Amino acid sequence: MKKQLTIALSKGRIFKDTLPLLNHAGITPIDDPETSRKLILDTNHDHIKLVIVRASDVPTYVEYGAADLGISGKDVLMEHGGEGVYEPLDLNIACCKLMVAGKPGVLKSTSRLRIATKFVKSAKRYYAQKGEQVEIIKLYGSMELAPIVGLADAIVDLVDTGNTLRANGLEPLEHIADISSRLIVNKASLKTKSETIKAFIQQMSEAVELNSRD
Ligand code: AMP
Repeated sequence: MKKQLTIALSKGRIFKDTLPLLNHAGITPIDDPETSRKLILDTNHDHIKLVIVRASDVPTYVEYGAADLGISGKDVLMEHGGEGVYEPLDLNIACCKLMVAGKPGVLKSTSRLRIATKFVKSAKRYYAQKGEQVEIIKLYGSMELAPIVGLADAIVDLVDTGNTLRANGLEPLEHIADISSRLIVNKASLKTKSETIKAFIQQMSEAVELNSRD
């Protein structure tokens, strides 16, 4: 008998991009999380359930075993630490870049930069590796506003098309990391549900391969 699998993922971009991969793997949710208020979604397989959580909570659910598997952005994993989970597969979806951005020329004009970001750990790590002293200001959203109103010299944020930066008179200045969503696995589940999880990883990796050809 197949063992029960619980997969944690978030609504929005990640869910939308994950759906075709799950479909390739033969898994279809019964309810649509964008319209349903349910937080646990049944699928066409009795042994597979989806739990809908906030994107930044996915690694926590998986680390503590509340979910066997999860789908999480690399940006979230970098902030979380990612130590408590396995990360066996790059799903190649929700791709973007973590970047330093600001007004043109700002990096040369200021000696000790003030950086506004919600990616505090990633920003600290990046500047520590560069050996550069900066002041980090934690924000929870609308980072682009910070350099405009003088709260910060630059921001560390996710950039996809660059349209949001351009619309606010900012530009990408330095590349920190390529970001995409990753399949993550609880360490204990990989031992206790080894066959079921390995089969799922295999199906998802075939789905990623097929997706890249679409
Ligand atoms: P863009 O204007 O296309 O460069 O998108 C930038 C905005 O979308 C920023 O506010 C980002 O935080 C957000 N964003 C872009 N890509 C992603 C992603 N893969 N995951 C989460 N947020 C993203």
